[in-house]
This record gives sequence, C-alpha cells and structure tokens, in this order.
Amino acid sequence: MNVHEYQAKAILRKFGVPVPDGHVCYNGASAREWAKRLGEGPWVVKAQIHAGGRGKGGGVKLARTSSEVQMIARDMLGMTLRTHQTGPEGKVVHRVLVENGCNIANELYVSLLVDRGSSRVTVMASTEGGMDIEEVAANTPEKIITEAVDPLVGLTPFQCRKIAFSLGLKGKLTNKAVKVLSNLYTTFIACDCSLLEINPLVVTAEGDLLALDAKFGFDDNALFRHLQIGDMRDFDEEDPNEIEASQHDLSYISLNGNIGCLVNGAGLAMATMDIIKHYGGDPANFLDVGGGATIERVTEAFKIILSDKNVKGILVNIFGGIMKCDVIATGVIEAARQVGIQVPLVVRLEGTNVELGKKLLAESGLNIVAADGMADGAQKIVAAVAAAA
Ligand code: ADP
Ligand code: MG
Repeated sequence: MNVHEYQAKAILRKFGVPVPDGHVCYNGASAREWAKRLGEGPWVVKAQIHAGGRGKGGGVKLARTSSEVQMIARDMLGMTLRTHQTGPEGKVVHRVLVENGCNIANELYVSLLVDRGSSRVTVMASTEGGMDIEEVAANTPEKIITEAVDPLVGLTPFQCRKIAFSLGLKGKLTNKAVKVLSNLYTTFIACDCSLLEINPLVVTAEGDLLALDAKFGFDDNALFRHLQIGDMRDFDEEDPNEIEASQHDLSYISLNGNIGCLVNGAGLAMATMDIIKHYGGDPANFLDVGGGATIERVTEAFKIILSDKNVKGILVNIFGGIMKCDVIATGVIEAARQVGIQVPLVVRLEGTNVELGKKLLAESGLNIVAADGMADGAQKIVAAVAAAA
C-alpha cells in the first residue's frame, strides 16, 4: 500500500524527522487560508497523487502570495497530471499540499528498502538528490552508496556518520543527519515498511536538514497492525479491479496485454504468464484465487476478469490440490451466467475432482475450449485471441 506525500510527512513528523509545515487542501479558498496560517510565504503547492516526477510534470509550484496559492491550487485540482511514473493516461489531482517553501542549498537522496539479495534493510544515499535519481542509478551508479543494516543491532550511529560523510555533510550537519537517518530507520521498522524514500532530503540555507518529499511502501501483510496507516488508503489512486479483488481476498494484478488468466497459486500464475508469452501472447492480468476459494469467490474472480475491457480471451489454468476443480468449474459457469462471456475461453483443469469439473463444464452449454496441459492451453488461447482479432 502507498500513501500521499502529506500523509507520509505526518508519519515522519511523528517520528521526529523534520519536514516543512503544510496542510492538505481540497479547494482554492482553503489553500489560500491555510497558506496565511502557515506563515509569510513563499509557499509551495504540490499535487497529491501516488506517483513521482510531479516537479517536472507541473505538479509542484512556487507561490509568492496567498492569492497565488489559491490560483495555483484551483488550477491544479481536477487537472490530469502526467509524469514519467503515471503513464500516458496520467492521474487526476483531487488534493493538494500547501506547504512552506524553503531555501534549498543542496538536494540529497536517501532511501531505505528491503534488499532481497542480502535479506537486509538497506540504506541508499546519494549526493545527487532531486528529480533525476533514476538517471543517476542508470548512468553513474557509483554515486549511490549503500549500507546494509544488521537486523539485531539496527542502524548504528557509526553507520549513520559514515553515510553522512559520504554525503559530504560536515560539522553540525553530521549530527543532524545521524538523527534524521536513525529516525528514518525507526520509522521504517515501526511501520513495517517495504520502502521509505526521501528525495530530496535538503540542506537549507539556514543549515538544517529537511525531508521535502517522502514516499512510503507498506507491507500489506502487516497492515492489520497499523490501523491508522490502513485508514490513509486512497481508493481513487488504485486500480478499481484490484480493489474489488482485495475485497474478496483475491490477488489480482492488472497488466498490459489482452489475455485474462484465472489461476491458483503465485507460482502457477508466473508459469502461466511465461507460457502465454512463450507462445506469442500477452497477459492482460492474472487473478489468483488461492487455495481454498469458495464458489462465490471464484464467481467474483471471473466477473472481475470479464469486466476488464482489454481482455480478448481467458485462460483458466487450475491445478486442484487444495482447490477443487468442480468448485472452479461451478464458479466459471455461475459467473458466465451472471455476466455472459463474449470472448474465447480456454480451460485447463488438473487435480482433485477433475473429472467432475470437466463434466460440469461440458454440460454447461458454454462455449469452452478444453485444454490438455499448460502448453496446449496457452497455444489454444493465443490462437483463439489472434483469430478473433
Ligand atoms: P517529485 O519528486 O514528485 O517531482 P518533489 O516533492 O520531490 O516532487 O518536488 C520536486 C522539487 O520541488 C524538489 O526537488 C524541490 O527542488 C522542490 N520542492 C519541493 N517541495 C519544496 C518546498 N517545500 N520548498 C522548496 N522547494 C520544494
Ligand atoms: Mg521527489
């Protein structure tokens, strides 16, 4: 799960990481009032969408007067912001953050993430903070330093100083950096984060450190421990099909192709997508119904796949271990009755109650292509989609 910048900053503030004072606003008039309340200006008006690159896309603007804040906020709210992270369709701005502008002397980059290679939380830092960290990573990776954290000991003051030195910080700034880094680590652990990125972390002309931008990724499996973070979820920012799926405890991932995949288990999902690609097709999504799905859940799952306009064919690939093939078959038939299937459907079933499952499908009157094995299923759906195009 992700949150907006203003929510991320509220969390950071709680953990003692310095951030500019600011407030979220939903209309121009309140943006103007909040600006006056925040101080003398200048202010920065920032579009709140779950994507970076806003600065370059026109989603971060400086205002010198409170009327200017109002005008900028009014224009920004409702606009479709396109950045290199939103894709060409962009994202509609529903909220803006009005915050105090600061005098930037230097922009740094700091992030914490779980490095799967070393199985450790790792701090990444760079002097090249600001808007182009992806380019730094691609062209001058030596400018990014990493420091792995021992989970038993935590991020030590020694490590923090080492990072601070490599960022070129001196004197009082070193101590400030040690505090910021160690508070960021505390935040990361306390909130069960998968990612915490501050870009930029700025040194101000007054000699302070300030987190000017913040991005969090939270481990969804730990969200039950963080009700307040869960409440920050903004459904406007998420794929409606993924929301619908999560409400039925289904894992749904939307992709760019045109073949919908109903599978059980993450491994089978990966293999199914690989084999579709192998035979020249492109998955539109995959929906993992998991182990013990009920008929109702399978029905919902199938409805979600059918509601995706990009889906030009569906491959059901189920290996019934815990999951029973007759339950899958009944769900498919039920969903088809409720919403109708206009696209080719290939079904490959194997495992528990497979004969019963196949019989149900055969007697359903639905136009289903049965497949023997994964390769056969993939070839058949790729061919059917190509023929229909
Ligand atoms: P994004 O990463 O989406 O482009 P940022 O929040 O990082 O958005 O803002 C982009 C740039 O705007 C920053 O690198 C910084 O130079 C400037 N900026 C952002 N917030 C402020 C602020 N409060 N005061 C001064 N400059 C800011
Ligand atoms: Mg940024």
